[in-house]
Amino acid sequence: MLKFIRLTGLLCVILLPAALFAQDQWLVSKSTHFNIFYKSAPEEMVNELSRKAEEYYDSIGSQFGFNRFNFWTWDNRARIYLFDTQDEYLKSTQSSGWSGGQVEIGVKLIQSYIGAPGFMQDVLPHELAHIVFIEMVGYRNPAVPLWLQEGVATYQQKDIRLIKGDLAEIIRNGQYLSLNALNNFRFEGAGEEQVRLFYAEAYSLVNYLISCFGKDQFVEFCRALRDNRSLPGALSKIYSFKDFNALEEGWKNYILK
Ligand SMILES: [Zn+2]
Repeated sequence: MLKFIRLTGLLCVILLPAALFAQDQWLVSKSTHFNIFYKSAPEEMVNELSRKAEEYYDSIGSQFGFNRFNFWTWDNRARIYLFDTQDEYLKSTQSSGWSGGQVEIGVKLIQSYIGAPGFMQDVLPHELAHIVFIEMVGYRNPAVPLWLQEGVATYQQKDIRLIKGDLAEIIRNGQYLSLNALNNFRFEGAGEEQVRLFYAEAYSLVNYLISCFGKDQFVEFCRALRDNRSLPGALSKIYSFKDFNALEEGWKNYILK
């Protein structure tokens, strides 16, 4: 069930400060919006990473209609660390064994390793979307639940297309996570199947809001979250959902139709 959802790095992982990395061992490749740090990665791999990162930077902004977010240039560039091996990555970042990459949002830092499964296609756009979205709705905004952050990030992945049919079955069987459960979801202590379901529903809710109501509404929704810092307030003002239950019903109908 939902095996095709890749478990990407969880957000807001607190990492060792970059200054603790032995900086002199790292080479750096600079593009307009990114500094890419690497050691033994071949030049063509670094160039490809740089090209993809710039491409996602543009496409994420236009996909959500976030066309005027902070520009990441000069000293404000995002940093990507590409470790040589999974071992080195896991040790330096203290990540879980399944993590293919992770992000520290506040300082625009992404870390992964050479050969991480799905890094270029899925993990990189996922982590970049986390940063772009938080810049849009405001850092440490208590009105922005984890499912919305992960939904926006997962929306960028290429490996999520088959989800609707699976979710329909799960909803019919009554095994889905209610919106209330999503709002209170914590990764700690959750089983792998629950985590997959959480990502799948988070993605699906964002997809529902964007495909049924459009990009402009979604931008307005994000603005309302940023300015008024209330999730129920933003849902009711922008989408006319009078409560979480109304959103859940709308989403279920969309999946089941
Ligand atoms: Zn994420």
